[in-house]
Amino acid sequence: MKVLILGSSAGAISCADTLRKNDSDVEITVAGKETRLPYYRPQLSHMLCDGKEDKHFYLKAENYYKDKNIELLTGKEAVKIDRDSKSVEFASGENIKYDKLVLAVGSINFVPPVEGSDIPGVFDLKFYDDMENINTYIRDKKTVTIVGGGLLGIEAAWTFRKSGKNVNILEFGDRLMARQLSEKASQIILKELEKEGINVFTQKSTKCIIGSDKVEKIILNSGEEISTDMIMFSVGIRPQIGLASEAGLETDKGIVVKEDMKTSDKDIYAVGDCAQVNGVCLGIWPLAMQTGKVAAMDILGKSIEFTMNPPATILKALDIGVYSAGDVTDKDDEIEILEGENYKLYTFKNNIFTGANLIGETKLSSKIFSMLTKKTTREEFLEIIK
Ligand SMILES: Cc1cc2nc3c(=O)[nH]c(=O)nc-3n(C[C@H](O)[C@H](O)[C@H](O)COP(=O)(O)OP(=O)(O)OC[C@H]3O[C@@H](n4cnc5c(N)ncnc54)[C@H](O)[C@@H]3O)c2cc1C
Repeated sequence: MKVLILGSSAGAISCADTLRKNDSDVEITVAGKETRLPYYRPQLSHMLCDGKEDKHFYLKAENYYKDKNIELLTGKEAVKIDRDSKSVEFASGENIKYDKLVLAVGSINFVPPVEGSDIPGVFDLKFYDDMENINTYIRDKKTVTIVGGGLLGIEAAWTFRKSGKNVNILEFGDRLMARQLSEKASQIILKELEKEGINVFTQKSTKCIIGSDKVEKIILNSGEEISTDMIMFSVGIRPQIGLASEAGLETDKGIVVKEDMKTSDKDIYAVGDCAQVNGVCLGIWPLAMQTGKVAAMDILGKSIEFTMNPPATILKALDIGVYSAGDVTDKDDEIEILEGENYKLYTFKNNIFTGANLIGETKLSSKIFSMLTKKTTREEFLEIIK
């Protein structure tokens, strides 16, 4: 059996690795558009300015692919899926046949269609090349403005600040990391960022970007102007559904799959950021890894159950621990504790533990995650954390 995997990030490599661990004969080809070895994408936020690669940056050592008999094709962009002949056409003109096809083509960043967003100095961060282009551009510049006050925006802002840049964060909503943090937790983060010299503007939206040969300022819808040398958009992602929809597969926000990761064609799977499972687009690294594994096992006829773990986030910025898990908005009851530098919030609904925020001391995080994956009652929760 020949399995062709399109994409070469978390979903793709997890799928290839699981296939090989469980079957030594299956033919595996991974074909990705990027030209480097598969790498740990979340690290890119921390490589801004200096470009330094952490020793765990690459997902596998270069010899892994050869040793495991996995054909890795880099710089290969798939342009068409022909379901009748069960083959994929690449931009290079090549065609590769498959018995089973796995779409692990991920997502791209959404950049709002703001006037001036094509002026040099406007970026978003998704690929290694984006990080390199930003680093080349910012070298001799002073001020960076991040549009978007979510996790990624804050991590990028922090890296720029540590490298001595002046940094602004513009957030459309009324608070930072609104998907993960309570109002109080957001306020604490905002104060910490400001303490570090990062300017945070909430409830601000970009009207247009001004500059002749490079970015000079942002005009906000409120009429205010912010001078800046560079802008980085970090406002959300869009699953890559083009290849799938052109091939007639069912798509919605993402490529629609069942819990076994099969698309509307039983020989084609979708995993990771490009997939939509039970109406939900995934968008995080652990779920790309998990869905890659689920697809691989299904291909081998050894199905494993897909369980959507609750989201869990560690903010890798600031010099304080910040952990969020579950959904702190899904509640009818809560326990909120503020003790010195430490903040803790636990939420409950129908007497079941639903979410947590920890700022400062975060050593309870693994217990919390484990409790969220089970239906832990309020009483059980209090017993476990006391
Ligand atoms: C800066 C940054 C920080 C992040 N931080 C975190 C974090 O802290 N925690 C977390 O859980 N998640 C984080 N994420 C999200 C996480 O990286 C993604 O959820 C994960 O990478 C998704 O993996 P994936 O395999 O689905 O696809 P992607 O990582 O999106 O990769 C898809 C790959 O497919 C390739 N491709 C696309 N189209 C084609 C084609 N037609 N032919 C061939 N190849 C193609 C692309 O070039 C790309 O290499 C972060 C993302 C970014 C950008």
